[in-house]
Amino acid sequence: MSALHLAINGGPPVRTEPYPEWPTADGRERELLLEVLDSRRWWATQGTKVREFEAAWAGFHGAESSIAVTNGSHTLEIALLALGVGEGDEVIVPNWTFLATVSAVLMVNAIPVLVDVDPGTGCIDPAAVRAAIGPRTRAVIPVHIAGSVADMDAITAIAREHGLVVVEDCAHAHGSTWRGTPVGMLGDAGSYSFQSSKLMTAGEGGAIVSRRDDVLSAARSFSDCGRKPGEWFYSHYLLGGNYRMTEWQGAVLLAQLERFPAQQLNRARNADILNRQLASIPGLHPQGRLDGCTSQGNYCYVVRVDEDEFGLDRDTLREALLAEGIPLTMAYPPLSRLDLFSAPDGLSPRIRSRAGMQDFAALALPVSERMADTTLWFTTSVLMGTEEDARDVVRAVEKIREHRVEVPSRG
Ligand SMILES: *Cc1c(COP(=O)(O)O)cnc(C)c1O
Repeated sequence: MSALHLAINGGPPVRTEPYPEWPTADGRERELLLEVLDSRRWWATQGTKVREFEAAWAGFHGAESSIAVTNGSHTLEIALLALGVGEGDEVIVPNWTFLATVSAVLMVNAIPVLVDVDPGTGCIDPAAVRAAIGPRTRAVIPVHIAGSVADMDAITAIAREHGLVVVEDCAHAHGSTWRGTPVGMLGDAGSYSFQSSKLMTAGEGGAIVSRRDDVLSAARSFSDCGRKPGEWFYSHYLLGGNYRMTEWQGAVLLAQLERFPAQQLNRARNADILNRQLASIPGLHPQGRLDGCTSQGNYCYVVRVDEDEFGLDRDTLREALLAEGIPLTMAYPPLSRLDLFSAPDGLSPRIRSRAGMQDFAALALPVSERMADTTLWFTTSVLMGTEEDARDVVRAVEKIREHRVEVPSRG
């Protein structure tokens, strides 16, 4: 019998208190939601809350306006439509991201081209983008993984050189900046998600920001049945859909945005502590952050585990940490490994035979594959508490490393 040090062996866990719950809400959400209820204007077309939120979210970005919609998958589709990306166009996408980044490309009839990511940040590798450009390349979608901003100097330079448009997937990056500019305002359009796990949430929701007025007005029209503001309700100019956000979501997001700056400061302080203290533990490598990333909106907290140096593999360490009371979610699998792309009927024959479609399952994109297999994704909650709450992550990792020989083999 080994001594009962580790919680995974029945010993006392580092944490018995739960981390702060996510999402957060208080009387402010309740107050604004009741205003919507009593107003009887529950849709944005007649209401005020979504418009107020759009103005506030635009202000947060130094933008003219923003377009709030159903979710952060539709924002990507609408942004691509608004930029005229569609049939026959190739769109370069990093292999390590949520499904929506690639499915949006397929949904607008374009052709995704998967490329590898940078081993430090986990964000799209500019050299791989350059190497993937061909005569039909029209767009690139950098994803700011866990709020660490992709190399936007390199990506915008490559885009200018080759006449590409850039859609930033900012679903993890509320509050992130690149050389002082909020993400979403560096490329041609930025896509935000307000899904339940994200740094501001109404359960579901999304918003498009852009420094380009033409993109914003096209995005407005595509998201509202192809209408044009000020024109008769039953005139439709574009093949759009109904992607409108509800007033309920607008109300909740207004309250979430009011609370965001203080929460972000707290998360950043705790992330700094973890970055410093975890980096000194052999075999642990906190996610990298480029010099240009002047602020990081901390969605989750990502650390790579070097099995040989640490003495345990990622999955074993993850199980042991969960037992110690440290909340973790899971790393994205590489897109190239999704069943959708390998199962014979995952993609419709029409899509599969789209000219230029790669056989994703046959691609070798080693960095994204390694990141998927070796990173721990702590939930945002570990950054939401006090400094001592954050330090418990370090205590738990140190404890597990010290007693690593006691961890039951998973083989
Ligand atoms: C959450 C997320 C989206 C959009 O998700 P929705 O759930 O549709 O709002 C897009 N890209 C990434 C990287 C995401 O994490």
